[in-house]
Amino acid sequence: MAMNKADRTEFFRRLEEDNPEPKGELDYTNPYTLLVAVALSAQATDIGVNKATKALFEVVSTPQDMLDMGESKLKDYIKTIGLFNSKAKNVIKAAHMLVEEHGGIVPNDQDALERLAGVGRKTANVVRSMAWGVPTIAVDTHVFRMGNRTGMATGKTTLEVEKKLLKVIPKQYLFHAHHWLILHGRYICKARKPECSKCKVYDLCKYKAKTV
Ligand code: SF4
Repeated sequence: MAMNKADRTEFFRRLEEDNPEPKGELDYTNPYTLLVAVALSAQATDIGVNKATKALFEVVSTPQDMLDMGESKLKDYIKTIGLFNSKAKNVIKAAHMLVEEHGGIVPNDQDALERLAGVGRKTANVVRSMAWGVPTIAVDTHVFRMGNRTGMATGKTTLEVEKKLLKVIPKQYLFHAHHWLILHGRYICKARKPECSKCKVYDLCKYKAKTV
């Protein structure tokens, strides 16, 4: 069953009440290091990425710094992160593209971002939202699950869920919505066993298998 407009508004009002200024959990120092951190976080935990990037971002803050460092030194910094070999290759390729095609600046354009090596739709959405303040919805595994379980935005693909969420989330909540959904999905509406008894939006959620 789909969630109605009044319930969607109340859903986000409660999440806002709980956490008025939600933040992502990845550490970064500027739009470029945000892009690198998000790209490194695919199939890895934010905590694991932060551990590796703490030292990396002390010496790298621009795409040119990354090129000066080179792929093999970069691998030393990120070798604790899953898939680090292919991620290092993509980070270096993307740094080349940023220097050659964008003057070393991270673009604020979905297509231009998605053309960078290793950058998919989700990463581009996160960067546009967090670096440039564009109200996008980056659909990761948590947002996808939340959209489907609650009945707010059901869909078989992340793109379908993204498009529906953009349409149905009340405008005043759109900018922070993806963080609220990620955090709620990560800590309460967990994949294996959602903690429905602790959930602030229990009565609004349409999930048939709610746990009590
Ligand atoms: S009630 Fe349960 S399934 Fe619904 S959003 Fe809350 S934790 Fe998730």
